[in-house]
Amino acid sequence: MPDPAQEPIPLPQILEDREAREKCGVYGAWGVEDAGTHAYLALFSLQHRGQESAGIAATDGKTILRHADMGLVARVFDNDSLDRLNAHAAARPRVAGGAIGHNRYSTTGASKLENAQPMVATFGAGDVAVAHNGNIVNAAPLRARLEGAGHLFRTSSDTEVVLHLLSAASAAGDDDPLASALAELRGAFNLIFLFRDRVEAARDPWGWRPLVLGVMPDGRHAVASETVALDVLGAEFVREVEPGEIITLNDDGLSSRRFADAERPLAHCIFEHVYLASPASKIFGPRTVQNIRELMGERLWRESPAQADIIVPMPDSGRSAALGYARASGLPYREGIIPNRYVGRTFIKPTGKERAAAVRLKLNIVSDIVRGKRVVIIDDSIVRGTTTRAKMDQLRKAGAQEIHLRIASPPIRNACFFGIDFPSTKELVAANHTVDEIARLLGVDSLAYLTIDGLKDVVGQQGAPAGDYCTACFSGVYPIDVNGATARDALTKNC
Ligand code: SF4
Repeated sequence: MPDPAQEPIPLPQILEDREAREKCGVYGAWGVEDAGTHAYLALFSLQHRGQESAGIAATDGKTILRHADMGLVARVFDNDSLDRLNAHAAARPRVAGGAIGHNRYSTTGASKLENAQPMVATFGAGDVAVAHNGNIVNAAPLRARLEGAGHLFRTSSDTEVVLHLLSAASAAGDDDPLASALAELRGAFNLIFLFRDRVEAARDPWGWRPLVLGVMPDGRHAVASETVALDVLGAEFVREVEPGEIITLNDDGLSSRRFADAERPLAHCIFEHVYLASPASKIFGPRTVQNIRELMGERLWRESPAQADIIVPMPDSGRSAALGYARASGLPYREGIIPNRYVGRTFIKPTGKERAAAVRLKLNIVSDIVRGKRVVIIDDSIVRGTTTRAKMDQLRKAGAQEIHLRIASPPIRNACFFGIDFPSTKELVAANHTVDEIARLLGVDSLAYLTIDGLKDVVGQQGAPAGDYCTACFSGVYPIDVNGATARDALTKNC
């Protein structure tokens, strides 16, 4: 008789854990040669921040030309589209115009071209394009107010609210319409604007998402979500755009002003360190994400060691932490799980029986490595748990004798209101089950997560001060009042 306590608990049949995440990449520069190609290279390097759509807008000083489409950067742009963007920016006399770019990732049901960015609008002061990373939590009441004043909205996006605020402040004759518009926003926003005579880059006063400034070999500056984009452009990192700051890039070079004081404490997204940012980037401080993830792995070993023979990373997101865990434990690190690099987001979502095959298709187990072994699997996080369970099943079938799952972040139990599209709390496995129950659900011999204190200790020593992080999805402590907002707001989170 099977022991009912050991029976697997059914999980909802949802294929993609990874698709539970949302983030975007943004870029902007003024006066560089081949402005479109520059933006393209930056977006390519930021591809990990968004794979649903990509777009670039460039100006010739009079109009804005935009090219955007659904799909990966390499699919969206070709030589013709880049030539057109380059020529448009180069047509500006004396100094070439600027360009901004955006990668979008969303699974909120708003997966359509109208939500691809940069978003372009025309108002009294001329054309403007905007690229947004984050989520504005007071977008709905702001929109209601603007609609009450006669503004007509074209999309369901929170980004469009910013353009209407800007238009209203301009029409009212405000001295600094952009600063006035930004001062009304609450939540997470990195916003890059392209005007006919400048690029402006703004970061919310809480510093939720990373935004960095670099200088290129010709002395021109660029802003981008992560330092990997600067590396690709051959630009040197100058500094982070400060929370509450607007940086202007124009013919005269660079200038800075504030639209708000930085909030204290700040609210850097700690999940950027866990999963979102590229391991090669430096965010919220001088250390690379890779370095910090390795330290998370070391800390995880100290908090939750396992009696085992080998350490195996869950590719690719568990690799950095697995290196740290292996180093601290002295156990051998082995690549026992091989991902299929050609299963992308375009893979047709199967139904019924094909579902299991589709999960198996995503990775293969190297049976010689795991057979008969006590294996520690390291992953960065668990969202729904469905694909994790499928992977554990594969490991067991490949002959793993014991499976000890270690997660290099705390359990995700709460919704994010600041731009990361976790599923509803009903679907978050850790919001509805104890750690022991999750271990049973996943069919593993033991399961342990990094503690919140452990995570904060690591980032606090290597990144920004520990108190300057948002940990809400783990801790339930929200840095700002989100009363009245819902994680899946009536307004689309464009990013
Ligand atoms: S709730 Fe989580 S994912 Fe969202 S901003 Fe805060 S730390 Fe990041």
